[in-house]
Amino acid sequence: MKNEAFNDRNVSSDGYFKVDIAEYPTDGWAKFTRVVRRTFRAELFVGLWVVLREMLKFDIHTIQYPLEKMPIGPRYRAVHEMKRLWESDAERCIGCGLCEKICISNCIKMDTKIDEHSRKEVSEYTINLGRCIFCGYCAEVCPELAITHGGEYENCSEQREHFIDYTGMLTPLEMMANGTQKEFEGFGAITPHEDESVKKTPLSY
Ligand code: SF4
Ligand code: SF4
Repeated sequence: MKNEAFNDRNVSSDGYFKVDIAEYPTDGWAKFTRVVRRTFRAELFVGLWVVLREMLKFDIHTIQYPLEKMPIGPRYRAVHEMKRLWESDAERCIGCGLCEKICISNCIKMDTKIDEHSRKEVSEYTINLGRCIFCGYCAEVCPELAITHGGEYENCSEQREHFIDYTGMLTPLEMMANGTQKEFEGFGAITPHEDESVKKTPLSY
């Protein structure tokens, strides 16, 4: 049913508002008269009143960044972090290369080598933050929950090619000692009931 409030010649039968091109001002005088007409229809004063009313509420809608900062959500995707295992402080990354392969911006570069215990270890790992679009795919694909997104979003740089390297991302050992490594709550994070959805091997039954 058609809304009576819009029942004029500019509203089509299907309820859409039609712009009448013929009524558009084409010269300076027509534009001026339209401004005057609208002003005396008090549209300007309505706008001013809305601004004044919000000012008088003293309800501040802005913050003084960088002195003040908004809280960010746990799933915020800022600069990457590399996590350690809680039980041994060892690095979680196994150098599988999945994050490098899935990265759609091609900004992860990594290399691995075999260490003295014949185990693969990451020898190089960098992320070009100038190219990264913070899509979260690398964190989502990581089978070890090693690479995650942290909350550090102030990463401005004078260089377009701004890299962060593996040691810069890795959780410092002091944070492991005082238990402040933060687990990831975003893409790919484990839930408290994750065990229920993990397929067990036959030996576990
Ligand atoms: S967040 Fe996306 S673009 Fe950035 S490194 Fe990860 S996969 Fe690549
Ligand atoms: S961060 Fe994760 S996905 Fe990337 S190489 Fe290490 S274990 Fe593999």
